[in-house]
Amino acid sequence: MQTYALVVKQDTISNEVAQDIKKRLKQILRYDQARPDLVISVGGDGTVLQSVHTYLHEPCYFIGIHTGTLGFFTDYKKDEIDSLITDIKKGEYKINSRHILEITTYQKQSTKTFYALNEVRVDYGFATQVMDVYINNDLLETFRGNGLCVSTPSGSTAYNKALGGAVIYPGRPLMQLTEVAGIQHNAYRSLGSPLIMDDKQVIHLVRKEQSILHFGIDHLAYSENDVERVEIKISDKTINFIEYKEMSFIKRVRRAYIVS
Ligand code: NAD
Repeated sequence: MQTYALVVKQDTISNEVAQDIKKRLKQILRYDQARPDLVISVGGDGTVLQSVHTYLHEPCYFIGIHTGTLGFFTDYKKDEIDSLITDIKKGEYKINSRHILEITTYQKQSTKTFYALNEVRVDYGFATQVMDVYINNDLLETFRGNGLCVSTPSGSTAYNKALGGAVIYPGRPLMQLTEVAGIQHNAYRSLGSPLIMDDKQVIHLVRKEQSILHFGIDHLAYSENDVERVEIKISDKTINFIEYKEMSFIKRVRRAYIVS
């Protein structure tokens, strides 16, 4: 590993921590914001998501430092920079590969592709969303409600968890479909529970009306005109986090949700 880049949350503490890292990495790695081998994000989970989206198509490793409350993707606290520098110097690490989603929107004359580390949310609370949900070529349901969320195992502890989805131990190529306030009564019905699928399945959301489609991917929000169909599947791409120190997924879950 020879080069690194920094993605920094725009607040005073994160900027100070980033300056400190830059000073102390001078003799160890070359700072190269364009072609980094290692991307260090300083801030929180949102900053890690930002760094992943910035360097999605580069062959690099990611690591996170949190400067606020405990994060899920962040391995070091702001007062553990000594330990981070020592670990980078030592150069002993494991790679933790995370599956991501590939989302394609089909408009009348064009298609667009997006990627999600946490989830895609086809979710809009101000008007009922009506979508036929196909898994491969089979119609599962006509969903009516605020929307649908498809998450990765990495994202299962984020928005998905708030929707009542299962927490999934990361590692396997899985995706989870959850409802956001689905309408359930004797005229309209949808599954009403999360559905977990693997990389052999493809989800198609076929819209009943082609009004503007509002959707969110990780920390990003989009509005697209005339989207007829959204295809969601597990991508062949993965995001590679570097782990200098062992931190099991269960320890992360306990630290975040049970006792800090
Ligand atoms: P943000 O950066 O303020 O993040 C919102 C919260 O989600 C933070 O506490 C963050 O630590 C946590 N988070 C992010 N990824 C996580 C993960 N993989 N596991 C556990 N917690 C995680 O908000 P943002 O930048 O707008 O959105 C980024 C992410 O935040 C989205 O991908 C979404 O999953 C999550 N989010 C969750 C909720 C919710 O739980 N109701 C609401 C909004 C956003």
